Amino acid sequence: MVKPLHEIPVTALKGVGAALAEKLAKIHIHNLQDLLFHLPLRYQDRTRITPIASIHSEGDYVIQGSVVASDVLMGKRRSLLCRISDGTGSIGLRFYHFSSAQKNSLKPGTEVRCFGEPRRGASGLEIYHPEYRVIKPDDDLDVEETLTPVYPATEGLTQQRIRSLCELALEQLNHPDALQEWLPESVRWKYQLGSLVEAVEFLHSPPPDVSVELLSEGRHPAQIRLAFEELLAHNLSMQKLRSLIRTVKSYEMPPKQTLTRDFRSQLPFSLTGAQEKVLAEISQDIMQPDPMLRLVQGDVGSGKTVVAALAALQAVENGYQAAVMAPTEILAEQHEKNFKSWLKPLGISVGYLSGKTKGKKRQQVLEEIVQGDAAVVVGTHALFQEEVQFKKLGLAIIDEQHRFGVHQRMALRKKGELNGGQPHQLIMTATPIPRTLAMSAYADLDCSVIDELPPGRTPVNTVVIGDDRREQVMKRLRSACLEGRQAYWVCTLIEESEVLQCQAAEVTAEQLREALPELSIGLVHGRMKAAEKLEVMDAFKSGHMHLLVATTVIEVGVDVPNASLMIIENPERLGLAQLHQLRGRVGRGSIASHCLLMYHAPLSQQSRERLQVMRDSSDGFVIAEKDLELRGPGEVLGTRQTGLAQFKVADLERDAILLDQVRDAGQVVLKEAPESAEPLILRWLGHAEKYANV
Ligand code: ADP
Ligand code: MG
Repeated sequence: MVKPLHEIPVTALKGVGAALAEKLAKIHIHNLQDLLFHLPLRYQDRTRITPIASIHSEGDYVIQGSVVASDVLMGKRRSLLCRISDGTGSIGLRFYHFSSAQKNSLKPGTEVRCFGEPRRGASGLEIYHPEYRVIKPDDDLDVEETLTPVYPATEGLTQQRIRSLCELALEQLNHPDALQEWLPESVRWKYQLGSLVEAVEFLHSPPPDVSVELLSEGRHPAQIRLAFEELLAHNLSMQKLRSLIRTVKSYEMPPKQTLTRDFRSQLPFSLTGAQEKVLAEISQDIMQPDPMLRLVQGDVGSGKTVVAALAALQAVENGYQAAVMAPTEILAEQHEKNFKSWLKPLGISVGYLSGKTKGKKRQQVLEEIVQGDAAVVVGTHALFQEEVQFKKLGLAIIDEQHRFGVHQRMALRKKGELNGGQPHQLIMTATPIPRTLAMSAYADLDCSVIDELPPGRTPVNTVVIGDDRREQVMKRLRSACLEGRQAYWVCTLIEESEVLQCQAAEVTAEQLREALPELSIGLVHGRMKAAEKLEVMDAFKSGHMHLLVATTVIEVGVDVPNASLMIIENPERLGLAQLHQLRGRVGRGSIASHCLLMYHAPLSQQSRERLQVMRDSSDGFVIAEKDLELRGPGEVLGTRQTGLAQFKVADLERDAILLDQVRDAGQVVLKEAPESAEPLILRWLGHAEKYANV
């Protein structure tokens, strides 16, 4: 075999047929290179026989001795207990499942070698169900020369089998092209990275004197060598994606200070420093012919909408259209109202399109969009449907879309293409993305952060309280509302079912109306008609309603400054980011606000910690980092939805400290050894890289 290992299928190995190949495919092993990158989870030390007397710490040991006693015990559960002695001490081997043949083979006087983890048991040190073999007088058994790897496995695939397959793959490394070194010398030198082949060989069979601890923490230089290269490959793939996108031109829309100036002069407030800073970045981007790809992160209430409006106006004053897309109907409608009230006075027409815009109305809006009569178009995902054609779309703004990943953004960009050009793209998210994730999942975007809230906000006082105190909570709610405050009551459900969640909200609203007849109580949920929802929201917004019972549909964007109390039922069911979003609905005015997290006991340790984070912090970035720590990147971003890369070797949390170096190294590779980029991407991303060709 002289091909590179990623081109040699596992079936080329002796003894690997279709059935075994299928099992290997389950753990993402298709070729010999996959086998080599299938790194052990941990290692066992079978390189020496340990005298029984010197077993002091926890762990696995190889022990050899002769059986001194062998008894079947009839305690709570029948068991076979063999006591073996090696002259330094003795230890028990306990079997709960045993055959009579097994029992007979372990008679006193028999010499055995066994492997397992000793624990304190009824008879002193015991190993439960050890691996063992009986040693005959003329046997000459060697110990292992290297640590024994324990691999991630799957049903029907034994450790022994994977080990021998990996050994076969390792034998192929003798060939110089098998696993070519693609890291330029300068990068390896600068970051003190060894050779790839050596790292791989080492990790599959580490010598006995290596630190098992370092290995188990994933901090051994050989592990870092591989993780570094994998992260670098991802970085290079993102850069490639970026430059591909940049081959398509966009439109130059310099600030004209006509509409934008008029708009600013009618605003009842001036922008915060952070808003100005981010706006300047956007303004600078969209006057260039290269398409902007910018992510704006700003905590709830930081004032992203105004920034979006000013960016849209810069497009409009250059004769282009701007589209504003929101993820939910309620939020889209709210944007529509805001944009209409802001832009109508400037003589700019705002179109609105959602999935619920039907019939004549729809035809009319589509016509306005294609004719360019609607200079700004607000809507839901519906805006990206085939039938929606813009006359001259210069800027696409996507609000609150942290759940979108590379693939989806690619699709949106394509949608926005017209006349060989591509609109600039602005993505706004209120869910701060932990820095480590941002650098990998969003490496194809430039980032801006609105890191300041408008003045005059009072922090929300958050209380974690059990639902056995519901009565007390209702009393408090009643008196707050009678004092003229407004409140939200948010219902959550474990089930992903919108129907059930809406039913729960209906029932709760009924109960609250009964218990608190003196309050005016409204209900809003995702299954109501758009017009109904709007009516309820309007009543709440105008202060005609004390209490709004809602499902999590109010999560994003809803803005009612007089609302100062929020009760969230079963907050333990929600992610931290979502809770933070919900809580951001209060604390928007100058009155002191409260958020009651009313959990249902008992809470798991993790839930307790998460609610505590909510109580102790109001900083979206802190909460996001904590969320990442507690739940891991896949959960936080929703790996499947985001297209966030799955790593073979790297671990974003563990290897976060490498990211800065990886970034630098990416630049160096492109400058000094651009021919290495493609093979590196291919090696680590293989087929996953398809999207780069969109
Ligand atoms: P988010 O970033 O969560 O989308 P919004 O854009 O909805 O926040 O803004 C929240 C509220 O703050 C709105 O009522 C908005 O009018 C107001 N606001 C935005 N910027 C400022 C500012 N610079 N000064 C005072 N209020 C502001
Ligand atoms: Mg918003």
